[in-house]
Order: sequence, then C-alpha cells, then structure tokens
Amino acid sequence: MTALGPELLQGLVERAGRSDLPAFEAQLRGSGNCARPIRLRGTVTVCDGHGHRRVWTTDTEPDGVLRKACGNRREAVCAPCAERYRQDAYHLIAAGLRGGKGVPDTISGHPAVFLTLTAPSFGVVHTRPLGPDGQPRRCRPRRDDPVCPHGVRLSCGVIHGEGDPCLGEPLCPRCFDYAGAVTWNNTLGALWRYTTIYVPRCMAERAGITQSALREQVRVAYAKVAEYQRRGLVHLHVLARLDRAMPDYRADELHAPEGRFDVELLERSIRDAIETVSAPVGRGLGQARVRWGDQVDMRRLQTGEQRAEIAGYLAKYATKSTEQAGGLLHRIAPDEVETAPVREHVRTFMRTAFELDTTAKQHAPRPAHVKRPTVNVESDWHPAALAIRLQDAMSTREPVRVREHDNTVHTGRVVRLLAAAERRDTTLVVELDSGARVHLADVASVGPAERPAPRLQRDRRDPRLARCAHAFGYRGHCLTKSRRYSTTFKALREAREAYVHEQLLARSTDATQRAIATAETRTAAFEFAGVGHVTAADAFLAASAAARAREQRRLAREAARDGLMAGLADEIAGRCGDARGGADRGR
Ligand SMILES: [Zn+2]
Ligand SMILES: [Zn+2]
Ligand SMILES: [Zn+2]
Repeated sequence: MTALGPELLQGLVERAGRSDLPAFEAQLRGSGNCARPIRLRGTVTVCDGHGHRRVWTTDTEPDGVLRKACGNRREAVCAPCAERYRQDAYHLIAAGLRGGKGVPDTISGHPAVFLTLTAPSFGVVHTRPLGPDGQPRRCRPRRDDPVCPHGVRLSCGVIHGEGDPCLGEPLCPRCFDYAGAVTWNNTLGALWRYTTIYVPRCMAERAGITQSALREQVRVAYAKVAEYQRRGLVHLHVLARLDRAMPDYRADELHAPEGRFDVELLERSIRDAIETVSAPVGRGLGQARVRWGDQVDMRRLQTGEQRAEIAGYLAKYATKSTEQAGGLLHRIAPDEVETAPVREHVRTFMRTAFELDTTAKQHAPRPAHVKRPTVNVESDWHPAALAIRLQDAMSTREPVRVREHDNTVHTGRVVRLLAAAERRDTTLVVELDSGARVHLADVASVGPAERPAPRLQRDRRDPRLARCAHAFGYRGHCLTKSRRYSTTFKALREAREAYVHEQLLARSTDATQRAIATAETRTAAFEFAGVGHVTAADAFLAASAAARAREQRRLAREAARDGLMAGLADEIAGRCGDARGGADRGR
C-alpha cells in the first residue's frame, strides 16, 4: 500500500466526518464507482398515485450534485465503466453463440467459426514468436544476415522479453512502408465489408446453387472486434455463424440451417472469400487495392465451453483500442504530432496519416453541390409558420403537398391565400391550382410535393485520414456485429436499469424516492455541473470501492473460469506469432 499524502489524508478525514457519507457512498455505488463521473444538478418531478406532486432535488445530495457514470468503454479512460462495458460485450457475444438474453438456446447448434484476419507485412519488426512448446524463440534469426539499402541488418537473434519496448518496432524505420500500413488500416473497414459480400458468393458456388437461392436458405451473422498490434496494424477477430434465412415477417426468429449448410461449408467459403477479396483504397490515395495477410487462424466452435471462452476473449478486446499499440486515446491536430507523448514509430504513423490526408484532398474530386430539400412545416409549430411556408411556395411556384389533420392530402401549386372566418388563431385559407381550398386550421403539414431526395449517403471512399491519424488510420469501431447476431447494448443496459429500479423499490423507505421509482412519467431537469470527482479524496474513495467490487467479482468467477482464457489467448497468439508483430502478450 502506498503512503497517503497529507492533503489526501485531510480530504479523506473530512469526507468521513460528514453526516452525508452514506449518501455519498450510495452515489458512488450508483455510478458503478466511475472514475470520472458526470456531475448533474437539478430536479426530478413526479405526480404520485394520490395526485401529489413530489420533487426530488440534488440540493439534498452530497455536494448538491448527482454523480452519473461516464459510460466510457475504454479501460484507459475509466476502468470501472470499461469493466461494465466488457461484461455487456461478453453477454452480447456469448448470447449469439450459446443463447440467453432473448436468444434461443438452440443457437448453440448452429455452425460457427472463430477466425483472426491479419494484415500483410509492411516491413520487418521485432517480434516474440512462440515455439510449438509455448516457449519464446529468437526474434528474426537469418543465416544469410541480410542488410537493407540503409545499411541496417535485417536479422535479430535476441529472445525478447514480454515487455521489451522494442517489440513491434521496425528493424529499419526507413524501410518500413508507413504509407502502405496507414492505407491498409484505413481500408480495413471496406475490406471487411467486401469480405462479407464475398462469403455468400463463395458459399453459393461451393453449394452449387445461385446466390439468390442461397439467400433464401441461409444467412451469415457476424460479430467482430479490432485489435491493435504493437507494430501499429489492426487485426480483426471475427465470429461467423450460419442461420436459416427467415422471411421478413419472421425476421426476428433464429433457426439452424439445413444440414447441408454445415460448419465445413462455412469455413471453406470464408477461406475462399479471404483469398480472393480485395478492396480499393480511399479516394485520392491512388488505384491500389488491399488484401488480407497470409496468416488466417480459423477454428470451428463445437462445444459450449469453447464458445464461452471465445466470447470472453473478444469482450476483453472490446475495451481496448489504440493504446494497445502505444497510441493516443483522442483525436490529434497536425501541429501536435511532433510533441505528442508517443514513441517514434507511432509518431511516424500519425505524420504519414496527415501527409496522406493532404494528398487525398488534393486528388479527390470536389463533392457535387447538393440542393437543400425544401422543408416540411408542421402545424404544431405555429399557424404563422404554415402561412410563411405557403407564401414561399407561391413565390417560387413550388408544388406542395398539403396534409389535413384527417390525413386528406392535396398536392399542387399555391394560387393564393384567402381570408375566411377565424378558426384556431387563423383566418387563412389556401387555394391550390387543383381548385382545392383548405382552411389553415385544418392543415397538419405542408411539405414538398415530391418526396425529398434520400439523405446524401456518406462517401464511404473518403479516407478521412486527419480524423483518424491518432488511430493509425483505422476508422472503424472496436466492436461491431451484424443486426441479427444477438441482442444489443441498449437492451442489456435497459434490462440492468430495470433491475436496479426493482431493487430500489424493494429497499427504499423514502417516500419521494419510491414515488419517483413508481411514477409513469418523470420530468427531469438537470444541468451539467462538471466531470470527474471534486477532490482527490473522492477519486481515491471511488477507486478503492471499484477495487473492492472487482475483487469480489474475481473471486466469484475464478472457480468457474480457472485460467481458461489465458491459455486460449496464448494459443492464438502463438499461432499468429509473426504477424502479430510481437504484440505484448501479458494482457
Ligand atoms: Zn466512468
Ligand atoms: Zn528483435
Ligand atoms: Zn532500411
């Protein structure tokens, strides 16, 4: 235990001496012992069963604020919130493999594989390969002792330790293809998307049926997480599961596919797709296409135990990202690159990303001018808004669509606005060139006669490298899943909140609190009062409470899991040894 400074000690004594200490501790618990809670100030108003208005205010809470969890998923930002996210991620992934959380248990019989997709090599880096016996081997032994054009030896006979800072560093930084590496990371999302299109194509071919016939029989569901390697390249860990295709009206049901669509067919089709697929690099970055690296680790998931292990393995990666490769957590500006607290290898990645961004902007075509769609005005804004909208349409001869409250629709050009008997704040009647006359009091909305053009799709080929320079060029999410894979984070969160709610109701004796918990409508008015703990002592207390909670969870889990995960992580790392570029494996 580290010695406490006098200031911290003073803060702790002060907090402990306050009469609202239990309320403070309850807030910490309520926020999951968040390390940087959002502080809110305000009131919640409800009407209880007897028609009484009850107000709960933060004024009666410790320091006059309510502490809400920050909800960040990254361990490096807030460990307790990330832990909660990891648990949700675990349940979300495991549900898609074994059932539960609204997914039927029969899902465990569906063919499923787990695979790791790797990046190609962009230069020789220091690694820590594992031998078949699990023992680390020499980094880059080469009998011919080659030397690069810059006079650097491209061999390394050292057996690196697990935390060796040189792991993932290029042997010759000038030979390392940074532009290629950044471009590959940047195109990874597209390459994955293309792969998911290729898999059914390859499956249809293997099964000897057309693609549309296949679509009517099976669907592939995915969940994937991204892992940053020490060398700065991103790998994808992917779960793929085969389901029976269901008609739209039964789309939320999950059934096993017909017997001939088995795990072998799934595995072979994915291998075919990985071998053949390629994706074009972002607009303005040239004509090249990117492909997957040669090393693909694929395993069939047969037993329930295997499936649980894999879910745990993936959930762990979901709370990490750039920091795995020694990168920054936040977006960075071009003038901050040279002073950023990162190693030189990472800095060169960032510098290259900004250089490529400049190049891409010079070469990319200017976006076409998009005409703004005319607005739809609803009557509940104000009758005057309808009148102004109609006058506008009249002056530009724009055809409009006038919908009445009873859903009668008139379309045409506005001829004039007439005066009539006053109804609901307005005396105006609109006359269209179709002859229709509608009192403005009856109008629900006025909009363009033509349906507005669909919202302009985001340009998927825009590399947007400046925004993801801190992320080594990768602009995807850390954890993604296809829609039908399993439940959602939102559903898991809501279930948890409902449970907390129930617990609160069961235990609370405070009338206002109970009224708030049971009320059907609550009016909350909160203002933002800051982020983080107010004093170092508060932060210390939250951290200790988090550590205690973590320890309890660990003890509860330990017996059941017993090191399975660590063994699995080692095995996968061993199989992809070289391509992982010596990812540090202590995690
Ligand atoms: Zn937090
Ligand atoms: Zn080495
Ligand atoms: Zn060189």
